[in-house]
Amino acid sequence: MAYTIDLSQKTALITGSNSGIGLGIAWALARAGADVVLNSFTDRDEDHAIAEAISKETGTKARYIKADMSKGEECRQFVMDAGHCDILVNNAGIQHVAPIPDFPVDKWDAIIAINLSSAFHTTAMALPMMRKAGWGRVVNISSAHGLTASPFKSAYVAAKHGIVGLTKTTALETAKEAITCNAICPGYVLTDIVEKQIPDTMKEYGMSREEVIKNVMLVRQPSKEFATVEQLGGTATFLCSDAAAQITGTTVSVDGGWTAL
Ligand code: NAD
Repeated sequence: MAYTIDLSQKTALITGSNSGIGLGIAWALARAGADVVLNSFTDRDEDHAIAEAISKETGTKARYIKADMSKGEECRQFVMDAGHCDILVNNAGIQHVAPIPDFPVDKWDAIIAINLSSAFHTTAMALPMMRKAGWGRVVNISSAHGLTASPFKSAYVAAKHGIVGLTKTTALETAKEAITCNAICPGYVLTDIVEKQIPDTMKEYGMSREEVIKNVMLVRQPSKEFATVEQLGGTATFLCSDAAAQITGTTVSVDGGWTAL
């Protein structure tokens, strides 16, 4: 049997998708035929313009729905407002870099809420919709930091390990159905979240921007290259394909060999 990837007739919800990896995944799923629902916590013209651009180029339906993934009720309402969900990509995430004794409590709470708890809330609302449709895919965006740690990223590493645990549990609870749940673990991708942590990391290590990229970030990535949002879009699309129907409860690393070290 030949496997092609045709996601037409599917609706994909991607949290945190007005930039970076989430947007790359939205484009890839739309190019494979899915209607996509984009999200972030803002409600700007440019957010809706992104959805319009995707619709125009791919011929699929793309919408943007504002919801703050730091708030459980808004996570749940996001899925309800979308109306249907065949594919759920839990991607929204933030980062903060500081040693544990100095780590601000509000940053810890926000990272756990956005990077971990939001996926619990959206999954809880999406699974009944997938069950009704008899098919579903949950793709959680974890990180190389879901499998290994770095200093000064306590909340992020805890949340990303947590999402791997949630992924395994979701997979076991859906194992006998045509629903899969997997986590993608990217290494460094040069998006806003990485750009924003460069100044703090420069401060922590006393390094220049170039030194942080070379000696802190890509030092752990044996390929010595950033992964790209297009590559992550392709990986997520594959996990939504029929060829991936028996892949569930696992992690897929897109990290240039980081976790092989
Ligand atoms: P990004 O900053 O471009 O994207 C983060 C997205 O989350 C944005 O769309 C942002 O608007 C959204 N977001 C933030 N707070 C939100 C909130 N309260 N409610 C709703 N949306 C919110 O960065 P990115 O690199 O594209 O990150 C996407 C995901 O990939 C994150 O979960 C991140 O942890 C993960 N990741 C990134 C890298 C990397 O190197 N860039 C590596 C591993 C994992």
